[in-house]
Amino acid sequence: LRQYSHEWDSELASEAGALHDSSSAAIAIDFEKCLRCGRCVTACDTVQDMNVLGMAGRGRERHPALITEAMSLSKCISCGQCAAVCPVGAIAERSEWREVLNQLDSKRKVMVCVTAPAVRVAIGEELGTGPGSVTTGQMVAAQRALGFDYVFDVNFAADLTIMEEGTELLGRLRTAWGLEPPAAADDDSSSSSASSAGRQGHQDEAAGRGHHQGPGPLPMFTSCCPGWITTVEKSYPELIPHLSTCKSPAQMMGAVVKCYFAAKLGRQAEDICLVSIAPCTAKKYEAERAEMLREGEGQDIDYVVTTREFGRMLRERRIPLASLLEAPFDHPLGESTGAAVIFGNTGGVMEAALRTAYELAVGQPLPKLEVAAIRGLAGIKEAELTLPDDAPPGLAGRSLRVAVASGIGHARHLLQAMHSGQGPRYDFIEVMACPGGCIGGGGQPKSRDPLVL
Ligand code: SF4
Repeated sequence: LRQYSHEWDSELASEAGALHDSSSAAIAIDFEKCLRCGRCVTACDTVQDMNVLGMAGRGRERHPALITEAMSLSKCISCGQCAAVCPVGAIAERSEWREVLNQLDSKRKVMVCVTAPAVRVAIGEELGTGPGSVTTGQMVAAQRALGFDYVFDVNFAADLTIMEEGTELLGRLRTAWGLEPPAAADDDSSSSSASSAGRQGHQDEAAGRGHHQGPGPLPMFTSCCPGWITTVEKSYPELIPHLSTCKSPAQMMGAVVKCYFAAKLGRQAEDICLVSIAPCTAKKYEAERAEMLREGEGQDIDYVVTTREFGRMLRERRIPLASLLEAPFDHPLGESTGAAVIFGNTGGVMEAALRTAYELAVGQPLPKLEVAAIRGLAGIKEAELTLPDDAPPGLAGRSLRVAVASGIGHARHLLQAMHSGQGPRYDFIEVMACPGGCIGGGGQPKSRDPLVL
């Protein structure tokens, strides 16, 4: 079945005129190819752990029409786990790879490619070099061979995220610890101030442990994962102020390329076609969000193609990834640190942000860079970090409690425990929608079994 799914992908069926539902920005469904195996429904229920589709049974009675129903009921978070387990491509990511090849062929625009951390350890698997093989240099060479003018790395923006999110966390903590006065209310916000206070009470109730007012409430939640953002918006809107204000690394990269890099080239944003290669189907939806549009200039990221779609592009152009000589990313947006690389795993964003917040607070790096307690594939992980006695006045001996959840179901359990008052009082929580984080994303190769994670 796995081989079958590689050969019979969604594009082939839709081009043949089969029944096709592409009402989602992330997912397309072809009912004629459905085997009624029910894997999609099981994956959806497993990831969200809430019987999203309202069906008790499993197996042949479960049909992707139920996924459509979930979308229409606004329960879909675009994570694409249904597409990742469909053995025949009846459910697949909304295809954009042919449009990208057309753009490359037309040579009308400056073609820029950016790649998420989790793709470099998966594209080799998609093309037969074995699971987990790191093919960063060959991947860059393949992107050049496709015709991209510039090949940059989303890891650059992951480092920006680390600096922004670590600084934001430290600001919220300093206010919570009474080291900084709460930010002054906006001049025009006497009414919004009141509504903010009203919201705060609600947040505390919903988060169970929300325990401070100021530049942003605690616990702070990461904001890198569009599947998690959609979950908050649809199921826990009272938690919105708890989300970090940072864009995801991919969208930060989009803004940097369309502003900074366009100016460096002496071009306008619309002269550049930016293609993001991601493990994620939700990023297709994220790129189209109203907040990500440049006024009068369209999207920051023009196309999002998944790891699987990237593999199709290379097969279509007969580019042999494994036998290419390694090539480096372009400067200056191809530079990054080791902290950016771990963004692809559950706990990676948290670990990277903790390193930065610690160094900003104490003035020296974390003595041991790996925060072992938040590594690994467990659904919920916790850790406590205590600042040293020689930290600046007011910070010495302070402790920071963090939690990491991967899979929306685990995040729901964490929130329930917090709401009931059973769990500890957290300061910072990372949530990634997919099992194991982005390495288990809905756009990754199908030769794995995500339900095992
Ligand atoms: Fe996308 Fe990663 Fe979130 Fe999955 S965990 S929805 S791959 S950002």
